[in-house]
Order: sequence, then C-alpha cells, then structure tokens
Amino acid sequence: MLNRPEHPTQGRSMQAGEATSLEIETFTSNRGLAIEEGLIFEIGRPEVSGVDLDEPAPFKDRLGGFERKDPIGLPGLSEPEAMRHYVRLSQKNYAIDTGIFPLGSCTMKHNPRLNEALARRPGFADIHPLQPQSTVPGALELIGELAHWLMEMTGMAAVAMSPKAGAHGEACGMMAIKAAIAAKGEGATRKIVLVPDSAHGTNPATATRLGFEVRSVPVRGDGTVDAAEVESRLGPEVAAIMLTNPNTCGLFERDIVAIAAAVHAAGAYFYCDGANFNAIAGKTRPGDLGVDAMHINLHKTFSTPHGGGGPGAGPVVLSALLAPFAPIPFLRRDGDGLRLVEHLDEAPDSFGRISAFHGQMGMFVRALAYMLSHGADGLRQASEDAVLNANYIRASLKDLMSQPFGDQRCMHEVLFDDAWLKPTGLSTLDFAKAMIDEGFHPMTIYFPLVAHGAMLIEPTESESKASLDLFIATLRDLAMAARRGETERFIGAPFYAPRRRLDETRAARSPILKWTKPAPR
Ligand SMILES: *Cc1c(COP(=O)(O)O)cnc(C)c1O
Repeated sequence: MLNRPEHPTQGRSMQAGEATSLEIETFTSNRGLAIEEGLIFEIGRPEVSGVDLDEPAPFKDRLGGFERKDPIGLPGLSEPEAMRHYVRLSQKNYAIDTGIFPLGSCTMKHNPRLNEALARRPGFADIHPLQPQSTVPGALELIGELAHWLMEMTGMAAVAMSPKAGAHGEACGMMAIKAAIAAKGEGATRKIVLVPDSAHGTNPATATRLGFEVRSVPVRGDGTVDAAEVESRLGPEVAAIMLTNPNTCGLFERDIVAIAAAVHAAGAYFYCDGANFNAIAGKTRPGDLGVDAMHINLHKTFSTPHGGGGPGAGPVVLSALLAPFAPIPFLRRDGDGLRLVEHLDEAPDSFGRISAFHGQMGMFVRALAYMLSHGADGLRQASEDAVLNANYIRASLKDLMSQPFGDQRCMHEVLFDDAWLKPTGLSTLDFAKAMIDEGFHPMTIYFPLVAHGAMLIEPTESESKASLDLFIATLRDLAMAARRGETERFIGAPFYAPRRRLDETRAARSPILKWTKPAPR
C-alpha cells in the first residue's frame, strides 16, 4: 500500500512527547512553509507604496464639487510584499498545472505551452476588435482556418464563432432554431423543448431563458435516452430537443440517429450539446448523426484554458438549414480575402448579434495550434486515449464503487454513485473531501442528477498510466478505509487543506463580495 502520513485522528497510540504536525499550534499560524495571511487590505499600510511617483503639479480639477473627500482606501504594500502576497495566493490555487484534475464534464486537459506561445505573439495578442479589418487579414485568416476545421470535424455547413462559452453557444444555437421556426410562421405554436433528465443544467436554463417550455425525457435503465420516449413526446408544439452526446453519464446515445429522424419528421430541430465532443472528435461527425446545431467548448475539447469562468469559447456549428439564421458578425470570402459581415442588410435572416465582436481571439489561436500540432491522427488518438483512460479507471474501481447504470463501457468519463457508501454511513461529499487530504482534486460530485450521490470522473488523455495508477490506488485505499468503517478519515475532512469544510451552499448563495473595514478594536 502507499505510504501516507499517519492521520491524527486515526487512533494510533502516541508516544510521550510525540505529536503530529496538526497538534502543534504554531506561533505564526503558518503550517510549514504554507503561509497564513490576511486579505491584502488587512496586511497593507496605506502609507506604503511599491512605486515612487512625483507629486502632481498643482492643477484645477473639473469635477464641479464631486471630487473625492476621503482617502481612496487602496491597500499599501511594498513591491516585495505585493509580489509575495499574490504568489502565495497562486500557490493555494489547485490547477491542471499542479496535478490531475478529474472533474467530470469539465474536461480539464493539459494546455500545451506551444498554444500559449502562439497566442502571445503580438500579431494575435495586441490587435483590437475595433481596428480596421484591412489591418488584420492574418487574424481573419486564422479564424477562417479554425472555422473550416470545426466544420470539417463536425460535418456541418456553417459555424458561428462569436459565442464565448458553452452556455452562450447553447443560447446562440437555440436562437438560430427559434429564428428558423419563426421564419416558417410557427413561432406561436412551437414552444416546447425536450430535455433529457441527464442534461447539464445549462440546457433547460437556455430553453427557459429563450421563452420555451421545458419537458423532460426520462433516462432508461442503461443511462441513455430511448427513441420511443422522445417520439411519444413529439408533436406540432415541439420546437427542438436538446440532447448531449456522449451524455453526462459518460455514455454514447445509441439511438441518436433514430432520435434525429423522429425529431425532423415532427418538424422540430435537434440541438446537440457538444461539450463532450472530446470523446468522439475524429471518430464520428455530429452532422452525419442528424444534428442541426451544436456548440463546441474550445476550452474543453481543444485544450484552451478554463479560467475562473472565462474566457472560454463556444463556437456553434450549424446545418445548412440553420446557416442563414447565424449571428453576425461572420466571415465571408470576397475575392482573395476574408472580411467580417457586420450588418444585417447583408444577412437578412440572421437573428442578430450574440456578442459585440467576432469572439475570443486568444482561444482561437490556441485551439487551432492544438488542432494543427495534433493532426487528424493525433486528434483521433486524443479521443481514443480519453476513452481508454476513463475505462481504465472504471475497470480498476468497479469492484469497490458502484455504477448507477450497470457494468458497461463508458466514453471519456466514468460515473459512480453512492450506493456502495450506504452501509458506511458516509456521503459522496465525505469521500470527495478525503481525496483533498491525499493531494487530489475531487471529481465532479452530485452531477448528473440522475445518479444518486454521483461521482463523475474524467481523467482526459493528458494523464500518464503512472498518474492514473496513483489516482486509482488512492481511491482504492480510501474506498477500503470507508468500507472498514474508518469514518474518522472522512468526517471533517479535509484536515490538511488551508481551509476545512466550508458552507459551500451559503458561499454560493450569499457570497460576501465587498470588503468592509473592520471596526477598530
Ligand atoms: C461544460 C458544459 C456546458 C457549459 O459549458 P460552459 O462553457 O461552461 O458554459 C454545457 N453542457 C455540458 C454537458 C457541459 O459539460
């Protein structure tokens, strides 16, 4: 078994004078070289500065009495203090550059440094969206080239490049569908969008936000959607289905072609949530499966970074039928160059704009660099390796952890539930938190909702066999400890993180976003 530090609450009898690190109250509150410090406003002194600026020459302000009366209240730190503060904060942040990041559905893959180097080239990084188009032909060519390969890989006729996230792409695709329905004069009747129970929350949210009524489609015993269940819900009031493939249980929707045919026969559209395209890229083309619109998360499938909720990029591929409704701006090749079509008089059926400009340039450069450096064979292998890695984890843990939809092969992510934890009295949350003490970021938990106490693991193709083996051995060790009833290792975990169990619900629902100066003691 792996060597791991003896846990303080594990009941090992202590020798006199022996203590574990956790029992020592340090003078500084620091733990080893992990520094405990306050907010920048609390550690700073207003009279200190990292820069030496001349007093401005006397001037007469033009604020008409609105000038600030009180000090501005910025924190004051010397340059080394400011640098240390931010470097320490960055060290508290777990990242894909630190270790395996097994969040299912999120596709936390390695961001190759080649992509970063290319995105930082001044010709791409220093241009401005309001620059005249004639000054940025290279940038337009790059967007055009990426658009070409996105259409090629998906087998679709058009692509809207401007959406800035997967959820934004969903909005874009569904707005194109809404415009197509309105153009047929069916806007008043087609009001229903079908969404399977396994869907990501953004799907029903998108449909509802656009004024549709969401009807759910149950998931059958094997975790996929039955074409007959979809068919029985279709009718002249149905606008579209939003289906994820592979779905959020990590399973390929086997009935997808039959579902698409039934949806089309009923005069509705097929929106595919393409967030999991990284499992099938280079293997199959959504256009061949009957998809009308699908977003691609460049920050998942094509390795561009996810950063604190952005900047992502969610281009939407569209079928020939939906292409006329695509948002402006889009690229058009005139003569020997590309230009952006920016006005509705050139695109009369377009539903309008979904974002101010053409999209996330830095993400486009990274995604194209990823594609070109892998090539067709490399992209296919990335999908295959992502699926292989997920199945390796599944096969290595299935004797200890339960799978909600039976023992079947998965795609790029593997789903366990909490049925196996029942007799232990521990929850999915307890198990996930204990992983942190072992140096692992937890997997996605409690999603998808169709699995009770879900644990969704997506290793991606980035991980080596050695890295997967350590991850698996750790989860096996934890699972066996849970089964042995060693609940102290779980309840109250994490023990070794800078912060212990937080009230995550309250943090999300009532975040304190404004710092107020504590009253002087
Ligand atoms: C990530 C994800 C989304 C949303 O994408 P964002 O880029 O985070 O907005 C939608 N559906 C599924 C299945 C996802 O995994």
